[in-house]
Amino acid sequence: MQRDQRHSDHYEWFSDFLQARGVAVYVRAGVAAIGLLMAVSSVILVLGAGGPTSQPQVAMMWVAAAGGVASAALWVRRWPTRGQSAAFAAVTTCSITLACLAYPDALAALLGCITFMTIGAYLAFFHSTRSVLGVVALAIVVASLHAVELAVAGRPALAAVDLFIVVQANLAMPLAIHSLLRALRGDLVHALTDANHDPLTGLLNRRAFRTQTLGLFERGGDGHHLVVALIDLDKFKALNDTHGHHVGDQALVAVADALRATATSSAVISRSGGEEFLIADVAPADEALARYQGLCDAVAALHIPVTASVGTATAALDVVSDHDPDGVVDHLIAAADMAMYRAKRNGGNQCHHGSWPTLGSPP
Ligand code: GH3
Ligand code: MG
Ligand code: MG
Repeated sequence: MQRDQRHSDHYEWFSDFLQARGVAVYVRAGVAAIGLLMAVSSVILVLGAGGPTSQPQVAMMWVAAAGGVASAALWVRRWPTRGQSAAFAAVTTCSITLACLAYPDALAALLGCITFMTIGAYLAFFHSTRSVLGVVALAIVVASLHAVELAVAGRPALAAVDLFIVVQANLAMPLAIHSLLRALRGDLVHALTDANHDPLTGLLNRRAFRTQTLGLFERGGDGHHLVVALIDLDKFKALNDTHGHHVGDQALVAVADALRATATSSAVISRSGGEEFLIADVAPADEALARYQGLCDAVAALHIPVTASVGTATAALDVVSDHDPDGVVDHLIAAADMAMYRAKRNGGNQCHHGSWPTLGSPP
């Protein structure tokens, strides 16, 4: 392994990956909730029975609670920049350290050092090996201080066992996550930058759509049709202008997921342009059209205010079997496009059908 790779961090590519898969919003909610829970735990410890009594210890607990609140606030607002993420990790590490050092009961404080694992896991996902090892070393130092205190107080066996538990928990989880991510990094990045896929939604791009749609000609059964659906989001520019580009991106990912959920497993699904998608499938025509007519409802039901105009076109495979497949695909896309524009002119959020041969004689 190269030296620069060993110290490189995962922040940019792993953030991109989470955004592209549409799960970044859940990660944000999860990290914010952890920050808030840490703050609440510190407050409970400082106010509860057996908590710190000396002024410096109480102050340290309140600073730890404030750190948790600041961390939660950062993640509630937006996905942090790399620098903000590093600052978040530093603040959270300080908060955990202060809380563990301030708590007067050595056994409870020793076991509390398991909390370092949370920030260790975060660093393992997003940042460098060096930062993970730094937190592990800090956890060992703080836990050892409490273990010594416990041993001096007459409980050396318990101190040794608990120290072992804390150290192995802090080591095992972050290092396992970090190693796994490092091993998968190549494949995951490839999935985002692969020449056939749209990096935002993970759907095929237009070029790959054509190639894979041509492959569908081989799959037709008796009475099957090649069905193409073109989906264009309505007034998408206004959604970007009103709610911001990142909400537009989230809408594109959510629509892509809705298309995957609506289409069959054999369907070829692509993001063919900015806010335009194409689906092709081979199926009995009625069945496929009924499914694609449900696409408008599926998009309108999303948690983001977006609707779609859908155009469909079909060709019976036995009718077009002696035509040039490339020409048939072009013809169907053009027919679906015209149908989509009719749906759009009628006010959007609806599906129109342009059946074969709607464009004069077939190619
Ligand atoms: P219409 O109802 O007529 O389809 O209007 P529209 O606003 O959807 O269509 P128009 O072609 O005027 O604008 C498309 C918008 O899609 C403009 C562009 O900013 C946005 N867009 C294209 N690609 C992306 C992208 O990857 N992310 C985001 N957020 N927006 C995109
Ligand atoms: Mg468009
Ligand atoms: Mg549009």
